[in-house]
Amino acid sequence: MRYISTRGEAPALGFEDVLLTGLATDGGLYVPESLPHFSLEEIRSWRGISYAELAYKIMYPFVEGVIPADDFRKMLEETYSVFSHQAVAPLVQLDTNEWVMELFRGPTLAFKDFALQLLGRLLDYVLAKRKQHVVIMGATSGDTGSAAIEGCRRCEHVDIFILHPHQRVSEVQRRQMTTVQGDNIHNIAVKGNFDDCQRMVKESFGNQSFLGGKTQLAAVNSINWARIMAQIVYYFQASLALGGPDRSMAFSVPTGNFGDIFAGYLAKKMGLPISQLVIATNRNDILHRFMSGNKYEQHQLEHTLSPSMDIMVSSNFERLLFDLHGRDGVAVRTLLENAAKGPVSIEEYRWKHARKLFDSDAVDDQTTCDTIREVYERNEYLLDPHTAIGVRAARNCRRDSAVPMITLGTAHPAKFPDAIAESGLSVKPDLPAHMADLFERDERYTVLDNSVSDVQNFIASHWKNA
Ligand SMILES: *Cc1c(COP(=O)(O)O)cnc(C)c1O
Repeated sequence: MRYISTRGEAPALGFEDVLLTGLATDGGLYVPESLPHFSLEEIRSWRGISYAELAYKIMYPFVEGVIPADDFRKMLEETYSVFSHQAVAPLVQLDTNEWVMELFRGPTLAFKDFALQLLGRLLDYVLAKRKQHVVIMGATSGDTGSAAIEGCRRCEHVDIFILHPHQRVSEVQRRQMTTVQGDNIHNIAVKGNFDDCQRMVKESFGNQSFLGGKTQLAAVNSINWARIMAQIVYYFQASLALGGPDRSMAFSVPTGNFGDIFAGYLAKKMGLPISQLVIATNRNDILHRFMSGNKYEQHQLEHTLSPSMDIMVSSNFERLLFDLHGRDGVAVRTLLENAAKGPVSIEEYRWKHARKLFDSDAVDDQTTCDTIREVYERNEYLLDPHTAIGVRAARNCRRDSAVPMITLGTAHPAKFPDAIAESGLSVKPDLPAHMADLFERDERYTVLDNSVSDVQNFIASHWKNA
């Protein structure tokens, strides 16, 4: 399988290089040159197999020729054995033909574990083969950092440095990062805000000379192709559990950077009958505004009760734009260069095509809280604020009540106790048993000044072979 850039100029790469590369050299994102396609008969034959085996069937074509089948199978078995539920992605029914797929049974209680648990193992495998070492550097305002750290904790060929804004992440989120033990795990609390952390990461990727040429930086942010790939699997899993592929399904996806929902779009292109995909956003609604009015325009960032969806631009949306433009990299480059300067639109017929593929809705904090309360009062089931947005959007956009509507449950409610409290419920979401002692565990992190050279010096002197 070869991978090409959405901006049409960077060289095509194989899976290994795509895994280790963040952005393409032309500023684009990598996508597969062609997708595997599964017949209904083949999909039907997967009923009743384990999650890991299903993951193997769906992902193997993407890594074929790079990772031998047996090694890949073993890797997937290990990856999904760390989830706390035997179904890995269990379904919970809310109403007639209405479901939540719980994607928060992994080590950090959010769906990012599905991809990052695999990514850590893939990186270590490829680096061992190449006899290379990398330093992962990332900035986090919450969920991604902990999932990346958990994903890399057993890697021998990876050191991971995660920057978070000092005293500006929630205690649960900080502890999920800082209580993970491992010589290759380094948490840095920067005396600044999230933007400062991100700026330092960007600057360091731009000029890696502080590492003295002895190792190189790698990225694990949501533009990494391997993350999207891992997220395709659970769409198939949910469908098979509810009578697919002989019925079609609808999915509602709480969306920020458009990674998770893009995986759903790919599942459909790969042969899974999906009749509706709903983009569910919070007040940071650039995608909903585009879908409803063909205008792609950055607004000021708003802080909401669903912080993991607080974005101004949606980086993976570029991958969809590439398809909408008949895979014309030059057209995508021109469009996004213009989008950086002001609002842009696409040709009417392309936009109409996008509207056939997706419905969309934006949900504010008040409605998020109302949904959490309503669902709890009717079902005694607690939604986290991100999932609540998905459920609300699903109900607002639903087209056919005979089609099962599945909302992706992206986080465990215990990660966001403030939103639960704001919804007026007196119930307190408990952390799952395996994390109940989170507040007693030892923390390890280093506080540094808001200075890129301090951060770079710290990294240069603390990675494994420094
Ligand atoms: C990251 C995240 C999202 C958004 O996912 P994208 O793939 O960026 O669209 C939604 N909910 C939660 C809980 C998340 O952590």
